[in-house]
Amino acid sequence: MMTEKSWASFQQRIGKAPEQVLRYCRNGGAKPLWPMSSGQPSKADIPKCNYCGGPLCFEFQILPQLLYYFSVNNEVDSLDWATIVAYTCEASCEGGVAYKEEYAWVQLSSPSATVP
Ligand SMILES: [Zn+2]
Repeated sequence: MMTEKSWASFQQRIGKAPEQVLRYCRNGGAKPLWPMSSGQPSKADIPKCNYCGGPLCFEFQILPQLLYYFSVNNEVDSLDWATIVAYTCEASCEGGVAYKEEYAWVQLSSPSATVP
């Protein structure tokens, strides 16, 4: 789980080239781009909002090009993903907290990958 500090650093980095590493779309009805047909979540895989119980919707997705910005060379095995899609509360409820948990779906780049 990312700390708020690393999240800030993360946002700073992707802010330099957002069109290459991040697709942000929060206008309702938007669909993420899936690099592969396998490993996509079904509707049942996406949980309800922890705070209001309402549906979550696609907010943004992170593309693997991000790895270059993190200069990851020696941790290839631990970053074996095709895309990460983040879902947030459709109603953008406050939930009484300043920092809300989001739901992220990680699509692995290797179809043969197994969960340990
Ligand atoms: Zn909510």
